[in-house]
Amino acid sequence: MTVHPNFALQAETTLRHLNFDAMKMVMLHQAQEYDLPIIENNDTCVCIQMNHGCLRFKNAADGIRTTAFAAQQDWLFMLKEGLVWQLEQFSPDTAAQVRWSDVDKAGGLPPNFHFATVQSVRWIGASFIRVRIKAKGLSSFQDDAIHFRIVLPPADLGDVEWPHVSENGSTVWPTGAKTLHKPVYTTRWIDHAQGVMDFDVFVHEGGRVTDWASSVAPGAQVAFVGPGGGGIPKTDRILMFADETALPATARIMETLPADTNGHVTVLASHEAYCSYAITAPAGVSVSWLDRETGHSLADIAIEMRDRFPEHYVWFACEKADARRFRTAYKAKGGDPANAYIAAYWSRR
Ligand SMILES: Cc1cc2nc3c(=O)[nH]c(=O)nc-3n(C[C@H](O)[C@H](O)[C@H](O)COP(=O)(O)OP(=O)(O)OC[C@H]3O[C@@H](n4cnc5c(N)ncnc54)[C@H](O)[C@@H]3O)c2cc1C
Repeated sequence: MTVHPNFALQAETTLRHLNFDAMKMVMLHQAQEYDLPIIENNDTCVCIQMNHGCLRFKNAADGIRTTAFAAQQDWLFMLKEGLVWQLEQFSPDTAAQVRWSDVDKAGGLPPNFHFATVQSVRWIGASFIRVRIKAKGLSSFQDDAIHFRIVLPPADLGDVEWPHVSENGSTVWPTGAKTLHKPVYTTRWIDHAQGVMDFDVFVHEGGRVTDWASSVAPGAQVAFVGPGGGGIPKTDRILMFADETALPATARIMETLPADTNGHVTVLASHEAYCSYAITAPAGVSVSWLDRETGHSLADIAIEMRDRFPEHYVWFACEKADARRFRTAYKAKGGDPANAYIAAYWSRR
C-alpha cells in the first residue's frame, strides 16, 4: 500500500466489537458516494483517501486496527473527528470507546479552533460588511477548503466556555445557556505571509453575525473553527448558481479558476446586493444577475441550464428549499455527484 508521501502524521486506534466486513462496506460506500480514491481494498485491509488525509482499516485479532494519516495536525484532527462522528451514527458505543494513540491534548482546545483579532471592518456597498481578521495557524486555509465557522458566544454571557477535545478525539461544544453560535462563512481572501484573511457578511435582518459585524471594532477578539466545507472546483467548465450568501464563494472561485475557464454564473440577489458586489470572471464565463423581487427560482434556472450543458461542473448554493429542489432534480436526471457541489447556505425559519 502507498499512503500519500505528504501524509507524514498518523494516529492509531483499535475499534473493538465491530465487524471488519461491515466497516469495509461503510467505507467503500462512502468512497463511491464522494468519489474518493481507494488506495487498498482486499480481504484484510481497506484504505481510503479522504479530503484531508487517509483512513486505513486492518482486520486484526483484537479488532479493527485503524490508522489516520494526514499532512498537518489540524487535518489529522478533522480526520479522526470525522471518523468518530461516523461511528456515532451506527455504533455509538464504539465511538465512545475510541482512544487515539496521539490523544495527548484531551481537555484542550481543538487544533482547528482559532482566536483572531479584528483588523478592519468596512461596508462593501449597501449589503455586505467585509471583516479582516489576523490569526496564527492559518496554513490549512487553502483553495481546497474555503469555509470556516465563526464562533460567537451568546450576547451578555460573562463566563464564556470554549469547546474542548474529548478523550475519543472529538470536539465537545458547550450546551444550554452557554451554546455558541457558529454559522459558516467563506474565506474571501487570505494572505498567509501576514496571517490575515477577509470574510464578507451579507447583512440581513435578525442575523447574529450581522449584529456582531455592525458593531465590532478593530482590536476585538473573535473565535473561529476551520477550515472545512468545499473548495475551488477542479474544472475549466462550470455552471454556478448563487444567492447573496454564496457571492463571496462565487467571487473567490471565479478569481481562482484557470483563465481559460468556460461557463456561466447566475446570481439571484436583492437589487442592493448585486449593485455593489464585484465578480471578476474569466473571459469565457458570463455572469447574469437576477433580482430576487422578480420571483425567479434558482433551482428552475439551474435545471434548465444543466440540461443544456450536461458536461459542465455544477456549483449551486442558496437557501435550503431551493438547494433541496435542485439536488432532487439533479439526482433524478442521473447527475454525477462527483461533478456537482449542491449546498444549502441558509434556511428560512
Ligand atoms: C458553506 C457556506 C458558506 C457560507 N458563506 C457565507 C458568506 O461568506 N457570507 C455570508 O453572509 N453568509 C454565508 N453563508 C450563510 C450563513 O452561514 C447564514 O446566512 C447564517 O445563517 C448567517 O448567520 P446569522 O448569525 O447572520 O443568522 P442567524 O442568527 O443564524 O439567523 C437569524 C435569522 O436570519 C435568517 N437568515 C439567515 N441567513 C439569511 C439570509 N441570507 N437572508 C435572509 N435571512 C437569513 C434565519 O432564517 C433566521 O431567521 C454560508 C453558508 C455556508 C453553508
